[in-house]
Amino acid sequence: MSKIKKILILGGGFGGINVLRLIQNKFKNNPNIKISIVSQDNYFLYTPMLPQVSSGLIHPNDITVPIRKLCKQAEFYHAAVSYIDMKQKLVTVTREFDGKVHALEYDYLVITLGSNTNFFDNENIEKHAFTIKTVEDALSINFNLINMLENAAQTSDLEFKKELMTFTVVGGGFAGVETMGEINQLVRDSVKNFYPSIGEENISMNLIASKDYILSELGPRLGKLAGEYLKKAGVNVLTKTKAVDAGEDYVQLDNGKIIPCMTLIWAAGVDVDPIVSEIDCIHKKSGKLKVDKYLKVLEHDHVFALGDCALITNPITGEAYPTTAQNSIHQSVTVANNLFSVISGKSNLKEYSFKSKGMMTTLGRKVA
Ligand SMILES: Cc1cc2nc3c(=O)[nH]c(=O)nc-3n(C[C@H](O)[C@H](O)[C@H](O)COP(=O)(O)OP(=O)(O)OC[C@H]3O[C@@H](n4cnc5c(N)ncnc54)[C@H](O)[C@@H]3O)c2cc1C
Repeated sequence: MSKIKKILILGGGFGGINVLRLIQNKFKNNPNIKISIVSQDNYFLYTPMLPQVSSGLIHPNDITVPIRKLCKQAEFYHAAVSYIDMKQKLVTVTREFDGKVHALEYDYLVITLGSNTNFFDNENIEKHAFTIKTVEDALSINFNLINMLENAAQTSDLEFKKELMTFTVVGGGFAGVETMGEINQLVRDSVKNFYPSIGEENISMNLIASKDYILSELGPRLGKLAGEYLKKAGVNVLTKTKAVDAGEDYVQLDNGKIIPCMTLIWAAGVDVDPIVSEIDCIHKKSGKLKVDKYLKVLEHDHVFALGDCALITNPITGEAYPTTAQNSIHQSVTVANNLFSVISGKSNLKEYSFKSKGMMTTLGRKVA
């Protein structure tokens, strides 16, 4: 039997690259350890600053890092994971380059494949809304914003101008709120400085959130404060409201109201990829992987899961930890420690627990 232990990390986001970084250090120059990482993107993406790409404030290069640069002692596969077989300890991947399918063997597996945008099975919304999850999404929003400004500056039809200048973001979490803050600032500054013919009075910004207050991750006091700030900046913050339908030029709310608008951005939730929910192991109802307090997938001692694709319960509150970058980073420390212990035959596995020391979010260019 080969002495070399194969560690395979799936996903090059917050969870994946931090586990990679930590275990490369722990197993530095160890010839008996082979580390590989698979990601469909060949770069790590700092998602909290995607909204700033959508407003053109920063360039995608400012928030991406090539994964190969982080592979000090690891092999990188630029490929999409298509099947995970825990019985055979095999992961099937499809190469981005030529679509060829390969099977990768592992002894230890780390699953950190993130999440997908959840449209709650609403095909109209999926068809007509922008999303904010990838670099391509952020650039599409940016091109669209500029287009809307150019068109609104040229039309003499006031109703159409107002539709072009109405922007609706659905989702009261980090992604939705930060995106609203950015586009509100970009559009208002642009109209003031470069498109005076549009008229600031024709701009309408709507943030739709299903909960009582926005940014529930921050708690009621800060969430309500953030809502007040956005209102002062000219955003209609509609809480306890859901978007239920959309078309090319409108979005419909659950109170029956129809907002005519040419730009709808959907950031109302995430769910796990079918590749994760279809793994033959114990899942939560949502499809997320169920892990124990050491972040090992239940009944699979050699497999760890973390980040948005895993359901990890806070032992003190009994509630699931929120799907945030901060949680993924902290979970990666536990996973790296426990992976090292398991491989080194030590029994001192660490339980995961995390108390946030605070979070930061942006509400436009001047307030964080
Ligand atoms: C716009 C936006 C703003 C946000 N702002 C904040 C914030 O301010 N603070 C905060 O804490 N959190 C924020 N978040 C949430 C945060 O980004 C996520 O919680 C975090 O990225 C989860 O980390 P992860 O490692 O689980 O997944 P990710 O970081 O999403 O990484 C998943 C990785 O898996 C890869 N992948 C996925 N599927 C496959 C496949 N089939 N094959 C191969 N590779 C695959 C992806 O390419 C990616 O590299 C924000 C998210 C967004 C979208």
